[in-house]
Formats: sequence, C-alpha cells, structure tokens
Amino acid sequence: MSETTVFGKIIAGEIPAEKIYEDDDCICINDISPKAPTHVLLIPKKPIPKLADATAEDEALLGRLMLKAGDIARQLGIDDAFRLIVNNGEGGGQTVFHLHLHILGNKKYTETDG
Ligand code: IMP
Repeated sequence: MSETTVFGKIIAGEIPAEKIYEDDDCICINDISPKAPTHVLLIPKKPIPKLADATAEDEALLGRLMLKAGDIARQLGIDDAFRLIVNNGEGGGQTVFHLHLHILGNKKYTETDG
C-alpha cells in the first residue's frame, strides 16, 4: 500500500477541497493552483501512484475516467476546448503520487502550446 497523499486525504474527507463531482470510483476537484481559467483534477479513489503502475485490472477504471473527463468537460461548458494531461513520474512533472487527470480548459490553445 502506498503512502497516503494529499489526494488520499481529500478522498477520505480529512482535508477540504472544492468538489466538482464524486461517485464510487472517482472524485473531481478544482486544482488549488490553476494553470488555466478552468483547471480541475479527476482522481480515481483507488490509490494508483502513477499511470505506469496501472495494470490490466485497472482497464475498466481507466476507461471510465476518460469517459468521465468528457462528461465533466461538458458539465463545465468546456467540451469544445479542453486538454487532458497525466504527468507520470518525477521526470514527467508529477508531484502528487496518486494518479490524476488534469482537465484544463477555457484557454485559447494553439498547436505550439507546450
Ligand atoms: P502533478 O504535478 O501532475 O502531480 O499535479 C498535482 C496537482 O495537484 C498540481 O496542479 C497542484 O496544484 C494540485 N494540488 C496539490 N495539492 C492540492 C490540493 O490540496 N487541492 C487541490 N489541488 C492540489
């Protein structure tokens, strides 16, 4: 079992967060330090440390997260203009080691944006 991260504590209700959505599998919260006008985090309740640690057992969960990301983008009115980002590992910019999808939107993205 991995060490509890800030997201584990939010899921457990031990620390507060601005909740956008929650079901049995996942939670979606506003990012505390937004990098776009809309920046939410979709977090599976299962504490998979990073995407590369997911296994075949997680296939359905990962599929549900992708579909849910689209639903949430629709709910937030950004379904025509959003990005999904998953940082994986320290070298990939990951700072919280509990898998999460960044949903970033409402910014004019161009082909040259990082
Ligand atoms: P990572 O760099 O892909 O691991 O993303 C971690 C994200 O979590 C960053 O965008 C942080 O701003 C965000 N974050 C860290 N702590 C909190 C919190 O307590 N509430 C909401 N977002 C957080």
